[in-house]
Order: sequence, then structure tokens, then C-alpha cells
Amino acid sequence: MAKVNLNVKLLEVTQNAIAVIYTACRQCYSAKFAGDIFEEGDKNLDKQVEFVKKIVKSGHESPLEHVKFTFAIEGVSRALTHQLVRHRIASFSQQSQRYVKEAEFDYIIPPSIETDKTLKKEFIKIINEIQASYNKILKRFSEKGKTGEAANEDARFMLPQAVETKIVVTMNCRELLHFFKQRCCARAQWEIRDLAEEMLKTCRSYLPAIFVNAGAKCISLDYCPEEEFSCGRMETKEIECNQKKS
Ligand SMILES: Cc1cc2nc3c(=O)[nH]c(=O)nc-3n(C[C@H](O)[C@H](O)[C@H](O)COP(=O)(O)OP(=O)(O)OC[C@H]3O[C@@H](n4cnc5c(N)ncnc54)[C@H](O)[C@@H]3O)c2cc1C
Repeated sequence: MAKVNLNVKLLEVTQNAIAVIYTACRQCYSAKFAGDIFEEGDKNLDKQVEFVKKIVKSGHESPLEHVKFTFAIEGVSRALTHQLVRHRIASFSQQSQRYVKEAEFDYIIPPSIETDKTLKKEFIKIINEIQASYNKILKRFSEKGKTGEAANEDARFMLPQAVETKIVVTMNCRELLHFFKQRCCARAQWEIRDLAEEMLKTCRSYLPAIFVNAGAKCISLDYCPEEEFSCGRMETKEIECNQKKS
């Protein structure tokens, strides 16, 4: 049982990503078959990159859905993954607390607790107590003949949100842009923001044409829509709402 750190590993990116997006987009305006555009079409990568940059800028984002990134993530809390899985245009495979016993669970300590000696001591004390109770429940279940996932699925009700988990996530580029707008924002919770920043670094290094200006929504908007909740990095702007009286 130990404190652990975030680890994000890229498993897979769609091959020929720029050519795939370019071809998909060209299909919208061409009488040719996309298969032929892809095979015989303009092989000039620089031209394709410029084209893809333009469609990202124009907000014509549906061709970006053809390219996906798959990440393996560990060293995150269940508090984080509860937020992550709210993103519906994504695929997830998460370590189960039914099939994987938390006999010696790892955990995440928020920096605000980590850096406070008194709070950290209290936090670790409670984590140790939870672990002991969890193990006691499993032992008692086992004495009564209840084992495996039937036992784990009830014992897990003892576990804290800090418990470490592992998850595989696949998102297409359009969803990734949306995810970064929300989760790189200073208003997002620190742990999911750290994860989003890590994922963004990887996406940007693989596909700068798409992700060079990705990040918190204020970057693409050029102002902050959070009004009184703004972090102050960008100016806020009052949004007009001209709803007609009925
Ligand atoms: C700072 C912050 C605070 C938050 N606080 C809370 C909170 O207190 N409570 C809470 O419950 N949640 C909270 N959330 C979660 C938030 O409400 C969203 O559920 C989550 O961020 C997923 O975003 P999404 O729905 O835009 O995107 P996704 O699910 O990733 O979907 C992407 C986009 O697809 C479209 N889409 C997807 N599904 C539908 C649909 N069914 N109908 C129409 N369009 C759809 C939308 O345009 C959506 O923006 C918070 C999020 C953030 C960033």
C-alpha cells in the first residue's frame, strides 16, 4: 500500500492520421472515391497539414473523428475516473474492484494534504484503518464461504475515493479538443487537469496541426467565459442573451 504518481502511456494512434483526415474532408467536395483520393491523391504532406490546420481553425471538426488516440493511465484516483467517464464520446476499460481484490491498495494524496504534515498523518492513518477494515470484511466473508467477486463487490464499499485505479481511454481528435477545453481549464479539478495536460502534450507532439492551439477553452475563444469564476489568465467578456419575450 503506497502513494503513487500519475503515469500516462500512449498505446496507439490512428496510422496516416493527417492523410485520413485530409481524405475524409476532400471526399465532401469531390466526385472521386475517397479510396482513390487516399491512394492516388495529393501525396504532399505539407499541403495536407495546411489543409487540416484550416479545417481545425474553421470548426469543421467532423473529419477529426476518424483519428483516435488510445492511452493507458495509472496512478489516478477513483475521484478522477468518476469525472473522466462523464465524457460520453470516448471508450473506457477500467480495472474492476470486483475482479481485482484491493488487498494492498495504493492511493493518491492531494497536494494540499501532502504538504501539510498534520493532515498527511491523519490521511494515512485513516487509509490504513480502511485497508484493515476491508481486509477484515473479506476474511469474515471467506469464513462464511463467500469469496471472489461476490466478496470483493461488497467489501469495496469501504474503499475511499483516493484509491488508485488504472484505465484505458480512447478518444477521437474532436472529443480530445473538447476534453482539453474543459479539463485544461483552471476551473477543472487539479488531478484531472494534470491528466489532461499530460494527454495534450502527447497529442501535440504527434499531431501539432490539430493540437498546437488546443487547451483550455479560453485559448480558442480568446477570452474567458467563466465570468466571476475566471482564473484571470484571460479577460472575461459579458455574454449577451437577446431572448425574445414570449
Ligand atoms: C469545471 C467542471 C465542473 C463540473 N462540475 C460538475 C458537477 O458539479 N456536477 C456534474 O454532474 N458534472 C459536473 N461536471 C461535468 C460536466 O457537466 C460534463 O458532464 C462533463 O464535463 C462532460 O462534458 P460534456 O457533456 O460536454 O462532454 P462529452 O460527454 O465528452 O460530450 C462531448 C459533446 O458531445 C455532445 N453530446 C454528448 N452527449 C450528448 C447528448 N446526450 N445530447 C446532446 N449532445 C451531446 C455535447 O456537445 C458535448 O459537449 C463538471 C465539469 C467541469 C469541467
